[in-house]
Amino acid sequence: MKHVLQLRLKKLWPLLFVAIFSISAISVDRLKSHVTWLSDPLREGRRAGSSGANSSAEYIAGRLKEAGYSIQMQDLVGNRRNVIGRFGDAAKYIVIGAHYDGQGTGFLSASDNAAGVAVLLELARELKDEKLPVSVVAVAFDDEEQGLNGSRYYVDHSPFPLENAVAALVMDTLGRSFMDNSAWTLFVLGTEYSKELAGVVQKRSRTEMLVAGTDLIGPRSDFAPFAVKKVPYLFFSNATHKDYHGSGDTPDRLEYTRLAQDAAVISQIAKDIARLTTKPQFLQDPIYPPTEADALERQFAVIEKERKDVGEAYRLMFADLRSRIRTDKSREAPQIAATALLAFATPRLSSYMLSFILGPFYESQGKREIAIAVYDEAIKWSEGDSKVELEKKVRGLRSGPNGLALLKPFSDSTMPQRSLTAHINDPE
Ligand SMILES: [Zn+2]
Repeated sequence: MKHVLQLRLKKLWPLLFVAIFSISAISVDRLKSHVTWLSDPLREGRRAGSSGANSSAEYIAGRLKEAGYSIQMQDLVGNRRNVIGRFGDAAKYIVIGAHYDGQGTGFLSASDNAAGVAVLLELARELKDEKLPVSVVAVAFDDEEQGLNGSRYYVDHSPFPLENAVAALVMDTLGRSFMDNSAWTLFVLGTEYSKELAGVVQKRSRTEMLVAGTDLIGPRSDFAPFAVKKVPYLFFSNATHKDYHGSGDTPDRLEYTRLAQDAAVISQIAKDIARLTTKPQFLQDPIYPPTEADALERQFAVIEKERKDVGEAYRLMFADLRSRIRTDKSREAPQIAATALLAFATPRLSSYMLSFILGPFYESQGKREIAIAVYDEAIKWSEGDSKVELEKKVRGLRSGPNGLALLKPFSDSTMPQRSLTAHINDPE
């Protein structure tokens, strides 16, 4: 009897697995069709205020309505709008959000962020069938790329009291591999501000997750306005790649199976949060994830293994940062490590990070050899005055008697009057 039962179970197991996974699986085909529609050249790169962005808003509203959500269009200035859908009568609710605007004509903005919107739409469909004890508020934000304008407006004019928001889950830049490596990475940021959300993420942790402090990337997406209002949040992203904010961010380059897997993980986390018995509290003093250094270390290991072409500047920085993230217990070490990884991920956009963050950091540490290599790397991605300035800088560093007198970072007057965030969010 026992023997037979075991045999039967053995036979049944694969079926059971299929059943479990198909219940929570998010459809690859549906994700793909949303991304394809939103990143069609007819949408004009969904530049905020354009007719392509308008029709995208209509598309999103249509899909949410089909899923049973009640829809509000929230108008911003300049022919821009957030699309807000709500499902459920419970006063408490969970927010799921993604921006739908893009880089404009000539860009398809598929990973950033047609993919995030596709996940939003499929999450909305899935969550409504879960009989959750909270309502679901799905928001497609407009005008993220030019300064988080949609999400900032949303938190200031939320149609539902923000204090009833259990948490906000924001998705941006999905479906492509971080730094174009073969190893997949799903960034999960924001756990440092809520013990309850950190608990959920830990329970659902997977090897491809990189759970890190938000300060590693700064206020770079629509989670930031929620943080300002002290709404506990999580941010999900596969982060940047060589085509980030470039014309190569096309729908055919997305990995839809991976996207669906990440969507299933996010969905599970959303359900767990919705079913928490205590409302997540926003921590005044962040508690950074203890696994962060290991996760960064893994990124360096992947690069070492996969990228034989890594240039001198990165080779030196990665070697230095590997030990620095272990020994330096301040937040500066992981921040610098993340900046180096992001610069490496998108060389085209790396000159600002190299010239104004990484180079000066290594000068301040008295590591002249690394600083020179970093400025040399920046020169490759610079032109005009900034290139001339960098060449002068390198000559100075090379010719200094012991370098010390010349180890001065760029002065304030040479700093462009815009933040890293603004720079990264600018179209080219
Ligand atoms: Zn984005």
